[in-house]
Amino acid sequence: MESNGGVDESSRLLRELQSLKDSKRDIEARISVIESQLQQIKSSQQSNKKSSSDYSAGGSEFGHDLTPDMIYRYSRQLLLPSFGVQGQSNLLNSSILVIGAGGLGSPALLYLAACGVGRLGMVDHDVVELNNLHRQIIHGESYIGRSKVESAAAACRSINSTIEIVEHKEALRTSNALDIVSKYDIVIDATDNAPSRYLISDCCVLLGKPLVSGAALGLEGQLAVYNYNGGPCYRCLFPTPPPTTACQRCSDSGVLGVVPGVIGCLQALEAIKLASLVGEPLSERMLLFDALSARIRIVKIRGRSLQCEACGENPTLTQQFQQFDYEKFTQSPLSSAPLSLKLLTSGSRISSKEYDELIKKGSPHVLIDVRPSHHHKIVSLPKSINIPLASLEFRLPEISSQLKSVQESNETLNGSDVGLYVVCRRGNDSQRAVQLLHKMGFTSAKDIVGGLESWAHDVDQRFPTY
Ligand SMILES: [Zn+2]
Repeated sequence: MESNGGVDESSRLLRELQSLKDSKRDIEARISVIESQLQQIKSSQQSNKKSSSDYSAGGSEFGHDLTPDMIYRYSRQLLLPSFGVQGQSNLLNSSILVIGAGGLGSPALLYLAACGVGRLGMVDHDVVELNNLHRQIIHGESYIGRSKVESAAAACRSINSTIEIVEHKEALRTSNALDIVSKYDIVIDATDNAPSRYLISDCCVLLGKPLVSGAALGLEGQLAVYNYNGGPCYRCLFPTPPPTTACQRCSDSGVLGVVPGVIGCLQALEAIKLASLVGEPLSERMLLFDALSARIRIVKIRGRSLQCEACGENPTLTQQFQQFDYEKFTQSPLSSAPLSLKLLTSGSRISSKEYDELIKKGSPHVLIDVRPSHHHKIVSLPKSINIPLASLEFRLPEISSQLKSVQESNETLNGSDVGLYVVCRRGNDSQRAVQLLHKMGFTSAKDIVGGLESWAHDVDQRFPTY
């Protein structure tokens, strides 16, 4: 009886918690809307005051265009001799577009909003997910499942309600890029994929906008300013895209949250320098950050290439930009959706539900998990044997002996009746592994379609995903 009481109490608390979270989210959304309305009223009042030469609007009274509120808010920046009133005033009159409200965009947006960029735009089509929060620090738990742009805009408004914040809740494509980017002075590339990098760089060349480009993966990051003052563009440096296997993303290879944090902060800093006309931008140079050894190196990079298809002497992209197929060019998708390969025929595959049936029936089999061993340590299916894809070819004898031992413990069986199944995270590497196994004589090998993600989705909802 007592344990039932405990269950009732915990479900009541869970319901109350959920309802409080819902209310909190609604209140936060309402706060954002009101802040934005207030800001619009304030800015229209300011422009009215300006036009009637009221002294509180700044202007000629102080010999610059900062209001008393602005002077107080930005005083620590105004006190910097190299930045001062002129730097702040330049910043307030500038506009910056941040493409991507993820790991890089989070700190960049927060600092840009805080420091007083006049107009701050943000582009992203994605929604906030729980596994974003360790690095995408602009988003909170109450925004899970909601638009990243909405969440980032609310956070920026709560820091600084006096600047203009523009939300672009869409993916940047060739069809909308020129229109969006043309509205800003400076662009920050805070995306995480090759086609977006080329698309953004080409668009900035076409429109003559300086580009602050950052990347972070694993424990390393890099940063450069492109298309600035006669300097190179991204395409000058990388005329051909890297092979697709080199284009990893956080979702596949992991990233320590602070690393994009560091690079995103540096991106904000470079953009602030460009906008305020203070300091020396990181053009024709690249900053390389190595978190493990705590090293930052600046390397000189080549200048503008005369052969560059975007910014060279005979640019071909000028006319073709909107027709250019960036996904085909880089052989990787613009969206963050994971790859879904189809290398095998249906006879060489089983679904996770079918595999579940096999286990329930007690069918003798061997299950090989071809993920890297550090993935296997996160979570794995019972009795799966971890042989990472990279070492599969050299560890075939282990598979033979496993099959043999399963056969021996089920004496009535022929060797061919012991099933051989392969699983990975999403069902791509498992297909590559089965191809190899077929080639090496393990002709009955099959893979589990959709890997452990489909297991978690279709069979066991409590099975952790990552
Ligand atoms: Zn170029």
